[in-house]
Amino acid sequence: MQKTILFISHTGQIGGAEVVLLSMAQHYRDRCHVILLADGPLRQKLSDCGVSVDVIAGRDSMLKVSRQGGRLEVIRAAPAALALAWRLARVARHYDILFPNSQKAAVITMLTGAILRKPVVWYLHDILSSAHFSALQRRLVVTLANHMASWILTNSQVSRDAFIACGGKANHISVAPCGVDAAPFDMISDKEINAAKQALGVGNHPLVGLFGRITPWKGQHVLIEALTRLPDVHALIVGDALFGEDAYRQELQTLVATHGLTDRVHWLGFRQDIPLLMRTVDMIVHCSTAPEPYGLVIVEGMLACRPVIAADGGASRELLGEDYPYLAAPGDSEALAKKIATLQSLNTEERESLVAANSKRARALFSKERMLTDIDQALQHIG
Ligand code: UDP
Repeated sequence: MQKTILFISHTGQIGGAEVVLLSMAQHYRDRCHVILLADGPLRQKLSDCGVSVDVIAGRDSMLKVSRQGGRLEVIRAAPAALALAWRLARVARHYDILFPNSQKAAVITMLTGAILRKPVVWYLHDILSSAHFSALQRRLVVTLANHMASWILTNSQVSRDAFIACGGKANHISVAPCGVDAAPFDMISDKEINAAKQALGVGNHPLVGLFGRITPWKGQHVLIEALTRLPDVHALIVGDALFGEDAYRQELQTLVATHGLTDRVHWLGFRQDIPLLMRTVDMIVHCSTAPEPYGLVIVEGMLACRPVIAADGGASRELLGEDYPYLAAPGDSEALAKKIATLQSLNTEERESLVAANSKRARALFSKERMLTDIDQALQHIG
């Protein structure tokens, strides 16, 4: 009989890891259940896909530990984490494999796995480095994983290497690059693109798009600074501050006003129609200032057949290729502006050849089917 799976996510907001969770849960729909440790739009999306989902929320539901939180924060959160692990155990005892999909969920689930003696397969979507997590948190999660995780999947080679560099055991890890379904990108018609462009009111100005959460390390400020060197270029900023980064959003708006860019920066907030918006812009920029563990938006940009400029760090070269010419040093707005200008100067043939190569690569290496096969293989390691 096929094993049943309990997926656990610490958040109900939708970022890259949660998009992947949607694909996995849909694939295993007949034998899985999803627990969210906080409510959010993900719950409805899962339900709409026919996936059974519950939220375990309440006073103790969320670990209030920030990613850089030190000893005090961790000690304060420990009783809540244990209480949550016990609550999760009441559901988890009905499933064969426990599958946390985020770091916070992994900590709770590994405790639950120890209580129930059930196998835990952790899909690690983060780079465990000082840029993202405090030393204590890295030590804690790696120690737990070495003793309590039966298998670890990582979204990229850089995430895998960072885990091992933190002391993680190398003998029960495999890389499962996050996969994206190409169909929604292929279905967009020219008519839809023209209508979307008109609705945006950007006329014939060159249009770049930055897609992702509004948070300092995603580097929206880098694009805004780059625009000061590109007088004709307009930008779409798509995404929202999902985890309380409202002060940063305010700073960005002040930066735009200070540079007199109000007419050229278009704030779209969180959108569900990413494939259409990506096909509507002339190019997609990714400008994370810290190493990106994966960057689903890079793969989506490749599938949308639009030129992509990415920050040269983290998994960008894994996704775009080692010698990809449109990488800019993280945080360097001048370098980003130069890459945008170079892409603008390409003739049609050069541009077509670039996007065709990117699209072919994404379809070959980062398809949803390939990711699901990688995950299936990992699950087979579990006795
Ligand atoms: N996204 C979205 N709506 C938005 C902005 C982003 O649906 O308004 C999606 C985006 O298409 C991608 C995911 O959120 O699938 C972000 O994933 P990524 O790995 O790039 O970043 P993360 O937030 O996970 O660090």
